[in-house]
Amino acid sequence: MSFVRVALDVPVATLFDYRAAAVASDDIGRCVLVPFGKKVAVGVIIELARTTSLPPQRVRSVLSILHDVPPLPPDVLALLKFCSDYYHHPLGEVVLNALPTRLRRRPVPKLQTASHYRLTQTGRAVDLTTLPQRATIKRELLRRLLAKSRAGVDAATLNAVAARAPAALKTMVALGWVERAPLAGATECGTPPRLGPGLELNPEQRTAIDSVRCAPAGFTPWLLLGITGSGKTEVYLQLIADALAGGKQALLLVPEINLTPQLEALVRARFPGIALVSLHSALNESERLHNWLAAQSGAAGIVLGTRLAIFTPLPRLGLIIVDEEHDASFKQMDGLRYSARDLALVRAKQRAIPIVLGSATPALETFHNALHGSYRMLTLTQRVNAVPPAIECVDTRRKPLIDGLSQALLNAVRETTKRGEQSLIFINRRGYAPVLICPGCGWTSGCHRCAAKLVLHLGDQRLRCHHCGHQERIPAACPQCGNQDLVPLGQGTQRIESALARIYPDARILRIDRDSTRRKHAWNEMRRQIHAQEVDILVGTQILAKGHDFPQLNLVGVVNADSSLYSTDFRAAERLFARLTQVAGRAGRGASRGRVLIQTEFPAHSLYQALRRHDYPAYAQELLAERRQAGFPPFVHQALLRAEASRLEVALDFLARAARNGARIKGAVTIYDPIPAGMARLAGLERAQLTVEARSRSALHAFLREWRAWLDAAAGRNVRWSLDVDPLEL
Ligand code: ADP
Ligand code: ZN
Ligand code: ZN
Repeated sequence: MSFVRVALDVPVATLFDYRAAAVASDDIGRCVLVPFGKKVAVGVIIELARTTSLPPQRVRSVLSILHDVPPLPPDVLALLKFCSDYYHHPLGEVVLNALPTRLRRRPVPKLQTASHYRLTQTGRAVDLTTLPQRATIKRELLRRLLAKSRAGVDAATLNAVAARAPAALKTMVALGWVERAPLAGATECGTPPRLGPGLELNPEQRTAIDSVRCAPAGFTPWLLLGITGSGKTEVYLQLIADALAGGKQALLLVPEINLTPQLEALVRARFPGIALVSLHSALNESERLHNWLAAQSGAAGIVLGTRLAIFTPLPRLGLIIVDEEHDASFKQMDGLRYSARDLALVRAKQRAIPIVLGSATPALETFHNALHGSYRMLTLTQRVNAVPPAIECVDTRRKPLIDGLSQALLNAVRETTKRGEQSLIFINRRGYAPVLICPGCGWTSGCHRCAAKLVLHLGDQRLRCHHCGHQERIPAACPQCGNQDLVPLGQGTQRIESALARIYPDARILRIDRDSTRRKHAWNEMRRQIHAQEVDILVGTQILAKGHDFPQLNLVGVVNADSSLYSTDFRAAERLFARLTQVAGRAGRGASRGRVLIQTEFPAHSLYQALRRHDYPAYAQELLAERRQAGFPPFVHQALLRAEASRLEVALDFLARAARNGARIKGAVTIYDPIPAGMARLAGLERAQLTVEARSRSALHAFLREWRAWLDAAAGRNVRWSLDVDPLEL
């Protein structure tokens, strides 16, 4: 009698035991259908067992093992187990989360694609006449495969050759003669990958690449610290070329917003003979499944993906690159709150391969590791074809602003337009104004479901909550005192756009934010307009900040940056520096030197000073010194227990009990008092949080393991809690 322990997509931290008649160790990682309650669920076999602690009459049987779905390989299972332990999240949810949606829902599709075989180079070289006389099945299989050496033959045809054909095929795969055929678009087997010519490297790029090449094989984490426009992408591409030439797969992780068709096209164009698949949330379910299968079968040489791609099975994985490694989108902010960047390091270590983390402004944790820890640092300090932009501060104290714009910035925009070049005004807020107020009584437009203000949107004359999506009509008069003169306070992209249109009626202005790019293809069309020079002034948010190359863009104006300077979140300054570096990096990528004007009331602030000198390392050292002194990460390790309830007291009370219980657990951790969350009310739920901190990671995790048991048992119906390990937002 044997049993299997199965991971199921349910929020409890156990596996489920089922009876299974004929299972072997190579069934571990396979999908199964099992009865669960009154339903049938898809699960994944995690372990085999001879016994179970359940009473025999309660153990149910596996309904079927899904043999045509490729099993999760041991290294991915190990990564998932690590992820479950580290983030204290139920293994079942972690495992099922890693499968494409199509595979975790019934009916699980029949997978033809995975059962297609063809000869390898070795296989094609096999001399049929040297095979032993008795090997008739093998010979027949080889003959059929040879006849279709390009396209391969489907498994059903091959298996039909003889009763023992499946076994013979398996042997031939083991001998390296036959492989699962790659999906459409993949490299023809045998042909060495056609690698397009790389660019001629500059000395810094050369040094970076040679350092990685010359490092001993095995796990080495690299930080590629390169200013914007220094040609990090070219370094990635040539390292990827190395990996491909060695028969390996490369995984390139990028932030959601950077995964553009342009990047994909760039990588494809460089490696025309290599199958590249992308994995990200914008794919539909069957595309995701198809791409996942191509990755796991080894057919795809390059996997380009966002954070979820870190869990993809990659049998020949030889290199991981995390571009813009500091980007917050690598961290999932709900459910399983994992950091794909951190898991990428775990995975590289596990697979004993190099990993390159690239950024102009690495996360302080990463930079700290490169200075004092185990990472090795590579630097690119020069822009490839240009000098970095000149960054200046415009002191806005005691100077009148016109709809938030200074005269200095307006003048610069005018001159830029006159020269036929483009300007960008960056403001990290969409809408017209972030709040509507009544000067009579002080009423402000608040969201009734969130601790947030409703943002005034002009186009359709509505007030919108950017947190929960609630929207309402703009009131004709103050709901509190009846005053009809309500005033929009502060600026958003729409307000900047209309101010510029008023001041420069002849300029062609384009606003680029989530609202204006919502329509499908809108952003593509806008990019075309910018490249075709049909635009003089761009007004945009974050969307514009990343990775785009607009050769005519020479002036960047930054409006409203100060608000992040004195935030209660200790990471706010780090993020602001990164964001401004990104935005400034858009200026002057073409022929003439770019100029960046930052409007601020604090021109002497060390953040702006370091930014002007393009000196990330100095500012990072300063922030690290502050963090060390204040006892913040990376000098301590944190976890956040979040609680949500319909009343704040209920959430706070739960956290207070959790704190008291935690105090009983031995270990060198500090438990702070429960407090309302930064965003204390969201979509109608009150939120509170509690920070736990320790000098040592292992002490923190030992504590969390024990605490979890109590949390699981104590939470009632009226409170929802979640643990966030290494939280990014406090
Ligand atoms: P980063 O990612 O570091 O901001 P990019 O990789 O976007 O910089 O490179 C900036 C520009 O320089 C790109 O247009 C790229 O094609 C070009 N480039 C990079 N390396 C070279 C090189 N060695 N020779 C010529 N052009 C290069
Ligand atoms: Zn009023
Ligand atoms: Zn809201």
